[in-house]
Amino acid sequence: MKLAVIGIGQAGGRIADLFEYYDLKYGKKYGRNIPVCMAINTSQSDLTGLKAIPEKNRILIGQSYSKARGAGANIELGTEIVRQELSDIKKILGERGAFNTQNIDAFLLVAGLGGGTGSGGAPILAKELKMYDVPVFALGVLPSDDEGGLMAMNASKSLMALHESTDALILFDNNRWKTPGLTIHESYSHMNHLIVKIFPLVLGAGEARTPGMVGGKVVDTSDILNSLNGFTVYGYSEAWARKGWIFKKKDKFYRLNPKDKCRAVLQDAVTRLSTECRLSSAKKALLMLAGPSNELNRDGLNEAIRWYENNLKGAEIRCGDYPVPKSDRITGIVFISGLYDIPRIRELMAAAAKHQKTIEEKGRIEPLVLVSCPECGSKDLQILKSWEVAPKTRKGPAIRVTMYLCKNGHKFRKVTKLEG
Ligand code: GDP
Repeated sequence: MKLAVIGIGQAGGRIADLFEYYDLKYGKKYGRNIPVCMAINTSQSDLTGLKAIPEKNRILIGQSYSKARGAGANIELGTEIVRQELSDIKKILGERGAFNTQNIDAFLLVAGLGGGTGSGGAPILAKELKMYDVPVFALGVLPSDDEGGLMAMNASKSLMALHESTDALILFDNNRWKTPGLTIHESYSHMNHLIVKIFPLVLGAGEARTPGMVGGKVVDTSDILNSLNGFTVYGYSEAWARKGWIFKKKDKFYRLNPKDKCRAVLQDAVTRLSTECRLSSAKKALLMLAGPSNELNRDGLNEAIRWYENNLKGAEIRCGDYPVPKSDRITGIVFISGLYDIPRIRELMAAAAKHQKTIEEKGRIEPLVLVSCPECGSKDLQILKSWEVAPKTRKGPAIRVTMYLCKNGHKFRKVTKLEG
């Protein structure tokens, strides 16, 4: 299956960059399946930091708004910039072959949903891409709890807009996958590999290039396209193929026969989903078993299918195997789609509502209209953070420090004395 991958914003660009990297790295094994890979951003430095996407495929937007310094987590600014520059973006995408639908089976937009450029811009671009005759998928990264209320608010807005404007919205939850003991920023690189690593295998499955790579039951491109719809999550698990049937789970080793090993990797994939969900709320699922052909066990696959049928209660399940000659591992992959119960979305919505309430309360203490941006004079402001500081002497009024972001992307802080 051939994808046109388009990353928007910092997270989107970095993850798209890895798609390009993995496509190059595994091109010989699984075929080159990403004919077009692009990064779009309002920040020049984010684009400069990319490694695999060629410079001609990096699009800088919004220079007149943010002087190439990013959208500063302002979702409205991200939306506005992409809307204003849509025709230029489309022109460049067209020149790079993104709309050559003979060569592309689907678009994949990638964005972090907690920021400004990706969360605001991706839904606008998705709507526009819908006019071409291929499905539009998005991969949305959900913010972690420690990123604060503003990120949760941006994510809740973007989630709904992207869900409406795409055929499927694949979710990856930073909160679930950040590395314990590391900050969210330190975890990015590891998480990005977790996100992308499995895609060469998934995309290669329907494009088997040698007879040895055609499975007993092939997962082809139309299986993948028909399995993805609405809110979607995915997971995968691996077991060593050769080394004496050893299977590793939670740092323990188990010895399994081929049938149990194939069943176990597929079942275990569900414990490692990109975002937690209620399985019984799914409408569709795709199961894939990949590995050396002599280890792909049909009975194991069938047992796993029965397990999923029981747990997904009436969902449409597609499945297949993908022989990968000389591979040292068996991989079980699952995509679960058409979900309507994803607890993390509810958590983000609750955090967003709480943040909104705090903003309204703070707005009463210090009316927005009295403040303007010292750099450009704009009164169109958003409160990023606000906190009270008690007076040192414990006498006299406390002060409130408020951080603002103006519509042109300038951040500044203001200190006010509180009454009483
Ligand atoms: P934008 O550039 O304005 O679209 O915003 P960012 O992409 O910087 O941030 C949006 C969200 O993506 C935030 O919730 C971040 O935690 C998350 N994020 C930023 N960079 C990365 C990354 O490299 N990997 C992952 N997994 N998440 C990221």
